[in-house]
This record gives sequence, C-alpha cells and structure tokens, in this order.
Amino acid sequence: MENKDLLYKRTQAKDAALLEAAQKYAEGYKRFLDNGKTEREVVKETVAMAQAAGYKEYRLGDKINAGDKLFYNNRGKALFLIRAGRADLAKEGVRILVAHVDSPRLDLKQVPLYEENDIAYLKTHYYGGIKKYQWLTIPLALHGVIAKKDGEVVEIKVGEKEEDPVFYITDLLPHLSQEIVTKPVSEAFPAENLNVIVGGLPLDGEEKDAVKLAVLRYLNDAYGVTEEDFLSAEIEVVPAVKARDVGFDRAFLASYGHDDRVCAYPEITATLETETEQTVVTILADKEEIGSEGNSGMQCILIKDILDLLAESYGVSSALVRSHSACLSADVTAGYDPNYKSAFEAKNVAYVGYGVGMCKFTGSRGKGGSNDAHAEFIGKIRKVFADGGVIWQTGELGRVDLGGGGTVAKFLASYNIDTVDVGVPVLSMHAPYELIAKTDLYSAHLAFVAFIR
Ligand code: MN
Ligand code: MN
Repeated sequence: MENKDLLYKRTQAKDAALLEAAQKYAEGYKRFLDNGKTEREVVKETVAMAQAAGYKEYRLGDKINAGDKLFYNNRGKALFLIRAGRADLAKEGVRILVAHVDSPRLDLKQVPLYEENDIAYLKTHYYGGIKKYQWLTIPLALHGVIAKKDGEVVEIKVGEKEEDPVFYITDLLPHLSQEIVTKPVSEAFPAENLNVIVGGLPLDGEEKDAVKLAVLRYLNDAYGVTEEDFLSAEIEVVPAVKARDVGFDRAFLASYGHDDRVCAYPEITATLETETEQTVVTILADKEEIGSEGNSGMQCILIKDILDLLAESYGVSSALVRSHSACLSADVTAGYDPNYKSAFEAKNVAYVGYGVGMCKFTGSRGKGGSNDAHAEFIGKIRKVFADGGVIWQTGELGRVDLGGGGTVAKFLASYNIDTVDVGVPVLSMHAPYELIAKTDLYSAHLAFVAFIR
C-alpha cells in the first residue's frame, strides 16, 4: 500500500462524463422543483411520475404481490412508493429510502386578512426554522388549498406564471433603520411583522375596510370562497422564484426548497428507474421541519403498518422483515461555507461538489436527538457505495455545540431498522433561495441506485 493510500481524502466530482450526466440530470430536477413548491404539489408531481412508470394506487389492506409497483398517497401530503421484489423478504428485508417534502415557509393564519391604511395584508405564522429577514422584499407566491364546508377543496396557486401578480413583505428603508440594525437579529424582525401585501384598491361604494372587501370580492369571484373559508385552509407563502443555474460554468443550482427535495427527487428517480430483486419502499414525508409530528410525518405509525401489510402479503413475520431492513434517511446536510468558516469544523463538514454526504450522527449538544448510526452499518454502506462508483463524503451539521438539528432517521431506527443519514450538502440552507452543486445531486441519485440494487 502506498503512503498516500493511508490517508482519507475527499474526492471532488470533476470527471467529464459525470459532469455531463449531472448537468442533464439537473434539468429534470429543475422542472420538479418549479412544479412542486409545497408538499402537496410534490406528492402530486411524484404520483404523475410514478403512474407514467406503471405504478398503481395502493389501498391499505390490498394484497401485495412480488413484482407489484404501487404508490400509497397519504392525505395528499406524504407518499409511499412500494416496489415489491422477488427476493426473500424475511431474509433480505426492505430497502427504505426516506426524504421529506415540506420546506420552511410562511403559512397563512386562519383569520389572515386585514386592512391598514388602505393596504390589504395577510397574516402569517412561519413554518420551520427561518431567518425572518430573508423573507422581506422578495417576490412571493401563494400556494395551497381551501377546504369548504361542503367538502369541495379549492386549489390556489398565484405568483408563478409570468403574467401573475406576486405578493410582498416590506422592510424599513436603511435611512430610518438605526434602531433596527443595532438590535440582535433575533429581535429586529418580529414574526408578527411578516404580513403579506395582497391589495391596495378599495371596493366601489364601500367606506369601511374597502380594500379588504375588494380582496374578498376578488377571491369570491375567482374561487367562490368567503373570509370564513380561511378557517379550513392551508395556504403557504413561498418564494415566487424559479430554479436557476448559478455560475458561468453552471456548477450550482439555486432554488427554493432544496431541503429536502434535493434528496426526494433522486430517491424517486432511483426507485422508478432501477431494476432490482429487492423490495423497496420510498417515502416522501411531511412535517419534518416541525418535528415530523402528525399523521403525515414520520412519527406516524403508518410506516410500520405498511411494512406489516407487506410482510403479511408475503406470509412472513413483520418483525423479521424489519430486522433485516436497511434505511437511508436522506436529508440535506450543511455544506462548508468559506464566508462563515467558524461555523464549521473543516475536517468533518461536507463540501459542495464532493459528492453526497453521509452523517453518522446529527442532533445537538452531545448528539442529543440523534440516530448515531452503527459503525458496522456504515461499513456496509461504504462497500455498497464503493461498488456503485458513488462519490460521497462524510459530513456533520456544523461545529460542536454551535447549534445542530435532527432528521427523521431516529424514527425509522425506532422500528429496529438500520438507518443512516445520507444527503446533499446545501449552502444557505433554509433560506428562500438555497444553493447546491449539481454533481452532489447526481451523486445522491447514484447512491440511492446503488443502495436499492
Ligand atoms: Mn431537511
Ligand atoms: Mn430543514
């Protein structure tokens, strides 16, 4: 063995064929991003992709046969792709890929609309971890659903088409910001100021709340809704921007919602395109950004129910199936940012352009809340990635005790499934416009292909 082979060295993805494949692959991802800015839209988009690949809708309790390609749509907000394999389920278990498809954003409150000084606003409550100032003075779109009393669900999507209006949150001019800029950022931008401008013209013949009434009249004409219908609505305020190449060499891709669609998309393509004897369950989860709560999040027992039903269909023990299963919990990791060196520990952070990252652990303050994958399992995955020619690197979410964060890995592991975090390094994570390297995106696809094969 040569001396240089004694050292661990990250590999930059720069092979010409790989670069070309990554550029091509990113085009499909861009479309996916632009069509899916909410968890509901991503689920809809994925169902269409799955159906085009021959997948059929699964209903809980249906018998699953080897060779079946199925999808289970959980309330339109989370999705399971199920590829029933011919391998012995009791011995091989299930290959599980999981990513989340909710992203940080502003949600409308239930009584959102008001008027002040002849400007109509919508009040919001932010969802997930955001830096509030990043949402000021950028073009915003409204995406979501209004569920009416009679059961009808109206879909809303305004701000994406070239001819659409957009929406807007103001910031104070620098000339008058002396008091704001000398405060800590955490106090300078109160969440109750994240009010979205949606109108400025009064309704003819009205005196009081004439602008608010004009907005309601517009919404009633366009969607048949009243103010009361917001009580049962889920409308998300998202950046009205499209995914764009970044850099003269187009090495990077900027978009809203890379976290975690940059892992969801390669999971989907790997699942739909890879021929395998293994049984694969690919999960697009909701609510990760608020702790994976609720029955569309990964803390819901539905994943176990589906594995139980799979095992039952194959006539084998679910406990045995789970004990032989393996999971890649695919979520973004922090990419090293040379502008903020002190936030990272340079030996252990992931670098953009050096392939998909694997995080043995996440969590905060002494790995708290982390899955902390077993060495033996990571050893196996190293072999899988090496055999698949996958460019990958180790990663960690910032320097010790600076902050941290969790993923869904621990919820999968709680079912006795070996699980490790694997994901694309992101710059400006949780910003309205995040950045990734296209080679890392493509490496994630290759990693998931290697895993399920
Ligand atoms: Mn994430
Ligand atoms: Mn996140």
